[in-house]
Amino acid sequence: MKSSMTGTILRIEKISLNDGNGMRTVVFFKGCPCRCAWCSTPESQNPDREVYFMKQRCRLCGACVAKCPNGALSFSEDNSTIKRDASLCDNCFTCVDVCNYRAQNIYGKDMTVAQLMKEIEKDSIFYFYSNGGVTLSGGDIFCQTDFAEAILEECEDSFIDTCAELDMLTSQENVARIIPKLNTMYIDVKLMDDELHRQWTGVSNKTILENISYADTICKKNSIHIRLPLVEGVNDSRENIQATADYCATLANCVELEFLPYHRLGVHTYEQLQREYTLADREPMTRKHVYDKVSFLLEQKLPYQIRISSLEIYDPVKGVIPVTEEQLTE
Ligand code: SF4
Ligand code: SF4
Ligand code: SF4
Repeated sequence: MKSSMTGTILRIEKISLNDGNGMRTVVFFKGCPCRCAWCSTPESQNPDREVYFMKQRCRLCGACVAKCPNGALSFSEDNSTIKRDASLCDNCFTCVDVCNYRAQNIYGKDMTVAQLMKEIEKDSIFYFYSNGGVTLSGGDIFCQTDFAEAILEECEDSFIDTCAELDMLTSQENVARIIPKLNTMYIDVKLMDDELHRQWTGVSNKTILENISYADTICKKNSIHIRLPLVEGVNDSRENIQATADYCATLANCVELEFLPYHRLGVHTYEQLQREYTLADREPMTRKHVYDKVSFLLEQKLPYQIRISSLEIYDPVKGVIPVTEEQLTE
């Protein structure tokens, strides 16, 4: 029975306006095979539920240190906080149970298809009046392909619009199961050079690019939006931007290339997970930074729209869209 199938969900965000058409319910899946240095949702990478620590809530009572069965917890040298040795932690969640101050918590929740659909259908009225629907995000939904497919089938039966944010590192068989069930997809293309892709994301881009090109042959018409999260000194070279633009032009159903300026919104999550954030020295980028980097594309008569963080700067029919300094510094 598909309705009793269980998936691991990071969180559900309601009435989102930035993840597809209209008002949307965004379901974040747990699990991702990539390790992008700039990832702003590191809590989505582990496919399983995992413990995290909120330092500001901790009263240093020591209960979790005493009860951890693996000796993974200890007081810091100056007794100002609790440290966790991730190599010893097996996510048994004893510390969560014994902490009376909710300083130890869990990222991730197991839900059945039926439970998740009940949550999604609560907002049907908003989907109806705004042309919205559901967006599956992550992590990477291909880490839970069976569960994602079951949700998409349920949405189709309930006439709920479907969209997904995808990383595309999976088998071609999985691509064939999921892509035709999506009305819209946002796909990350992070770096065109494979060596650099391996260096900054931990994985090769070969399968990802092959899968995107394959998806282009089986997807709904004009359903592909490509996103490039732009990070200074990582993938903001003219060469990479041009190669990405050229690749998008090979996709018959690509309607948009959107550049997303690097931000540091996820930094505190690395602290909660007691993991190192390796881009700590990198400054966030503004739309203006990105515009200066990508504006050389505007005269190339590319066959898709170009945006910077939702701001349209080029349209294949209208041409270059004038933008103000104010819009670029927002
Ligand atoms: S693919 Fe997305 S979720 Fe996965 S590590 Fe990269 S940025 Fe994070
Ligand atoms: S049980 Fe909670 S409050 Fe006590 S030391 Fe552990 S995290 Fe801090
Ligand atoms: S979840 Fe990890 S840190 Fe917490 S009690 Fe279990 S092993 Fe120890």
